[in-house]
Amino acid sequence: KELAELVAGGTVDVLDFPKPGIVFKDLMPLFGDGPAFKRVIDGIIAYHDSFDVVAGIEARGFLMAAAIGYSTGAGIVPVRKAGKLPRPAFSASYALEYGEATLEVSEGAFEPGQRVLVVDDVLATGGTAEATLDLIERAGGIVAGFTVLMELGFLDGRQRLSPRPVHALLTV
Ligand code: 5GP
Repeated sequence: KELAELVAGGTVDVLDFPKPGIVFKDLMPLFGDGPAFKRVIDGIIAYHDSFDVVAGIEARGFLMAAAIGYSTGAGIVPVRKAGKLPRPAFSASYALEYGEATLEVSEGAFEPGQRVLVVDDVLATGGTAEATLDLIERAGGIVAGFTVLMELGFLDGRQRLSPRPVHALLTV
């Protein structure tokens, strides 16, 4: 099977989560299918030329980053929700449909010039990714790539991140 097909086959649409009117793409069945998960992780690794460290966005991005980091020997850096990191951190806030969200990366998380592969499960409006890429650059990293398992194309997140490239295994 193609990687896009594996992602599609491992996704369940959940109506009205987390709010009425939202159709949430639940990719946990994909993560729970060992052979499929291994293939998508290997596919992401094969797509990217070179990187020194993998940054995963809380929380599902952590699962992907850990697998990629373990398999390639690259280090892992968590991009965390506000208030979780024990040491001083760079922080970036962005607008949600209702209210605001904040993400953080520890100061000193990267050696200057380290090439960072950024991963998350879903790209929706792109607010999360935009804040993350900004944080990584502020922390001294160089964004070497950004990969998601699924891109919700109708929300134009890719446009928002332009000209930075987005790699999506499946666009719906
Ligand atoms: P954005 O900031 O692009 O609007 O939303 C992307 C972030 O919210 C990602 O961290 C992603 O995990 C989460 N997210 C938004 N919509 C969905 C969805 O339908 N399914 C999943 N699994 N995550 C979502």
